[in-house]
Amino acid sequence: MNLGAEYGRGVVIDLLPESRCRMRCVCGSLYEARRDNVVAGRTRSCGCLAREQAIARAEATAVRREHNRAMKAQADIEAAIAMKDQCQL
Ligand SMILES: [Zn+2]
Repeated sequence: MNLGAEYGRGVVIDLLPESRCRMRCVCGSLYEARRDNVVAGRTRSCGCLAREQAIARAEATAVRREHNRAMKAQADIEAAIAMKDQCQL
């Protein structure tokens, strides 16, 4: 591991004792991690990546829920129209 090397979103800015290193994330945060975790790709950011992925998942769920709600509303309207048509027969 060399200073300036990029791993995920982080850049190595300092090598610390006990196989640790200090990293600077693209978001501007500094964080410390174990070098082996960084090199293996287990530590890829200060934590912002995991936060963003959690937010993205939550948004995807919200969009899916809204889509399902809209589909259900449309189905209800179509059912109501179908019932109305039957009444006119
Ligand atoms: Zn970050």
